[in-house]
Amino acid sequence: MRKITVVVVGAGPAGMMAAIRAAQISSDVILIEKKPSLGNKLLLSGKGRCNLTNACELDLFLERFNNGQFLRDAFNKFFNRDLMDFFENRGLRLKVERQERVFPVTDNSSSILEVLKAELQKNKVRVITRNPVKEILVKDKLVKAVILSDQVSISADSVILTTGGVSYGFTGSSGEGLAMAKLFGHRIVDLKPGLVGLEVKQEYPKDLEGLTLKNIRLKFRSGKKEIVSEVGELLFTGFGISGPLVLSLSGKVADLLSAADEVYAEIDLKPGLTPEKLESRLIREFKIYPRKNLKNTLKELLPLKLIALFIKLTGINAEKKANQVTQSERQRMAHLFKNLRLDIKSTRPIEEAMVTRGGVSLKDINPKTMESRLIRGLYFAGEIIDIDADTGGFNLQAAFSTGYLAGENAASS
Ligand SMILES: Cc1cc2nc3c(=O)[nH]c(=O)nc-3n(C[C@H](O)[C@H](O)[C@H](O)COP(=O)(O)OP(=O)(O)OC[C@H]3O[C@@H](n4cnc5c(N)ncnc54)[C@H](O)[C@@H]3O)c2cc1C
Repeated sequence: MRKITVVVVGAGPAGMMAAIRAAQISSDVILIEKKPSLGNKLLLSGKGRCNLTNACELDLFLERFNNGQFLRDAFNKFFNRDLMDFFENRGLRLKVERQERVFPVTDNSSSILEVLKAELQKNKVRVITRNPVKEILVKDKLVKAVILSDQVSISADSVILTTGGVSYGFTGSSGEGLAMAKLFGHRIVDLKPGLVGLEVKQEYPKDLEGLTLKNIRLKFRSGKKEIVSEVGELLFTGFGISGPLVLSLSGKVADLLSAADEVYAEIDLKPGLTPEKLESRLIREFKIYPRKNLKNTLKELLPLKLIALFIKLTGINAEKKANQVTQSERQRMAHLFKNLRLDIKSTRPIEEAMVTRGGVSLKDINPKTMESRLIRGLYFAGEIIDIDADTGGFNLQAAFSTGYLAGENAASS
């Protein structure tokens, strides 16, 4: 039987897994990467530690996606336990951290990349680097070949496009695959930033840059619409706010911003306490130290870096002694603890997003195989597809799972 030639375009996690799986079935697999090295975004992932998946069960996992149902077949074929076994069976130990996030015990994403590279080699995948694919040749709606930037043509029975989204362009993900898919009539869902920081109108976050607020709750409001976060962490940055809670909700906030003029956030600094309980707490603190300056009495309740701003926003004289604070001033403080407001200007640009929302429309891809519904022999996997998820290892698992499914079908169809 003639062997099937599979060409995989883009060596991120989706492309490497697709090539490995295809090579387990066919002996002629070529992986083409435009950068000098493989997996550049993978190396940055999880702050260099690579949160490769999440150990939660399937239904919870799917809930963390936009368009999660599309991934059911891919996850049924190759899910989190399979991915963890893949690495552990090849000698890399993994650990599960808070919120079920999975990391290599080395705390170093390069250990993940090394296993993938060794597996590519073991399965005799031919790897071509520094040579972007410029064009895919199609005849009678059937894939025929790819053309590289040096005009070399490589014949192919199947092509898997795994060129990623459009953020962190310096890693190589710059949207070329999307343009190729569009040429053949695939619908491209508008590209927007996912998991990205938010710019605010107020100037004060600049003074708080680097400060992380732990155990707070965030609310985003626009007219009657309200998005409420879980309790978690927020980071002040030079432009506004970021950190896990902000990143997780940034997609929904982007939708609010495109539909309304006014979107604002309210930080609940003490989600466990009602305003009444907070006021009683303040009364207690002020009674214990009646002659202390107000700013010193707040050290128990707020991070040091936030105290001066907090008092300024209440309009109370910071030099007041605790026993001089009036009832209405106390109530203002209690209110501010629950509602520290920030007006949202915009999301940060897509280039800075951890993930691209939008991409090749799910309507044009068969979820059982990852094959295009328009061109036979053309497959998609990873972030190029219109799927994106929350932080926590979900995006990488989607890349690995869709890569695995596409690789298997591309090599056996
Ligand atoms: C800073 C950061 C941290 C992240 N951390 C995590 C995390 O901890 N956990 C998690 O689940 N997700 C994380 N993500 C998201 C995750 O890294 C991506 O979703 C994932 O890398 C997507 O994989 P991919 O293979 O689809 O695309 P990519 O990783 O983007 O790979 C695409 C590849 O295609 C190549 N390419 C592009 N065009 C061409 C062409 N024309 N010819 C040849 N090659 C081409 C590119 O050079 C690139 O190597 C993070 C993202 C960022 C930016």
